[in-house]
Amino acid sequence: MNGAFKHVPLMERPHFVLVPQMAQGHTIPMIDMAYILAGHGAVVTFVTTPRNAARLESIIQHARDSQLPIKFLPLPFKGTEVGLPEGCESVDSLPLGLKQLSTFVEASLQLQDPLISYLRENGPPPNCVISDMTHPWTGAVAREFGVPRLSFIGFSAFSSLVRHLINIHKVYDNVVDDFEPVPIPGFPHPLELPKTRSTLSFYASGERIFNMVKEEESKNIGVIVNTFQDLEPMYIKSYENTIDKKVWPIGPMCIFNKDMKPVASRGEKASIDVDRCLRWLDSMPNRSVIYVSFGSLVRSMPLQLIEIGLGLEASKKPFIWVIKAGERMSEIEQWLLEENFEERVKDRGLIIRGWAPQVLILSHNAIGGFMTHCGWNSTIEGICTGVPMLTWPHFAEQFLNEVLVVDILKIGLRIGVMSSVTWGSEKSDEVKVKRNEVEKKVLELLSEEKEGLERRLKASELGKMAKMAMEKGGSSYNNIEFLIHEIQERMQGNKDKVQT
Ligand code: UDP
Repeated sequence: MNGAFKHVPLMERPHFVLVPQMAQGHTIPMIDMAYILAGHGAVVTFVTTPRNAARLESIIQHARDSQLPIKFLPLPFKGTEVGLPEGCESVDSLPLGLKQLSTFVEASLQLQDPLISYLRENGPPPNCVISDMTHPWTGAVAREFGVPRLSFIGFSAFSSLVRHLINIHKVYDNVVDDFEPVPIPGFPHPLELPKTRSTLSFYASGERIFNMVKEEESKNIGVIVNTFQDLEPMYIKSYENTIDKKVWPIGPMCIFNKDMKPVASRGEKASIDVDRCLRWLDSMPNRSVIYVSFGSLVRSMPLQLIEIGLGLEASKKPFIWVIKAGERMSEIEQWLLEENFEERVKDRGLIIRGWAPQVLILSHNAIGGFMTHCGWNSTIEGICTGVPMLTWPHFAEQFLNEVLVVDILKIGLRIGVMSSVTWGSEKSDEVKVKRNEVEKKVLELLSEEKEGLERRLKASELGKMAKMAMEKGGSSYNNIEFLIHEIQERMQGNKDKVQT
């Protein structure tokens, strides 16, 4: 722990209230943030809901065992009152996907009063609210206690900047052809993006919420980003200038802890025995395995999954393939069985059905490549573990992350997807990438030829830089210290005001 707080009683330390969006891609980095802030001596209240708390059971237990000052606070979530099905407390559990997203965000507005009541009745009082940007109601919570609010944007600075510029310049308002590349005004270098690959509509959660988010963003004291200074200095600076707010890059937060136990249960309990997974990886040559996973939200259709499976088999490379097919899972199981697929690839293929201990897998020396949907967490996890990526964006800002990884950082290779899918309305007969393309691109990514080696070298350099950023004295480490210090100074300022 930060020495400055060693002898300071908990009641006198800066108290951060963290409010994540209830979606694994948003909750996981904020859990890491909770650990990081507590590790630097702050006190943390982490707001969640009963079902999400049950999912996070092992990490909550771990925090308790480590005696870190993190309090997980489950507040009742009343989604059924606004028409959501019983038990829907996280974005990935919405049966209709995108169509229900705005209702879900509306439902979370009701957390405001219970959170205020809890914080009034239970000490210590908060000193700062850090909220997912999609929770505008937390602005009222911060004002109630006269404390600042920071928003957490779960994107890179690159895509945050693009998103902001698209919104303020209404870039696609008069564009008829969704595939036509359109220049992004105000970007620090020429950049053209077609509408279909900058699918920001994903976050347009109805006009009311959108306006509330915009309004609260303007009142924030700054924005926290899960990135690090040396990864994207130009975009961090430009984003800061464009929004005219302090931007705090404090990542990659996923490497907060060298202890792999809590890392393995980030988000959810792994569906595979972690020791079995590690033994399997130990049995593979260094940098030989391609890890295939599309995050927590992508719903892959059976026909596409079959093409992936056959492509992986044809590549003859070792692979870990995470399959998440939701309610279509039984169709995939049937195919695996009929084809005797697992037996056919038993010497080099490991299938994980459900939740994989992703960071633990990516951190292993046997991993040589990552076929990813380019969610920002997966991307930054690939970056900090030094793994080159085969990029397969599906929706939201994933296409922007692809541009960053492939064109700018030069640590990735496109699988070749040209347009997005609508989350929750996926077409079951659509195959975006055929088996021979999967095979070809996997081989290209893992190749020892010049380009493959250059990508690997660059990825490994970035991995080292990422780790340094989080080490004592590194840029992100220092930013965390500065942030806590700033909140402490504001606490002090408030005390002084009360005394005079
Ligand atoms: N994740 C995991 N195991 C899985 C799937 C996902 O640990 O089987 C984690 C992954 O490491 C990342 C997060 O879930 O931290 C997914 O976030 P991301 O931004 O990559 O994508 P999203 O799920 O939001 O689309």
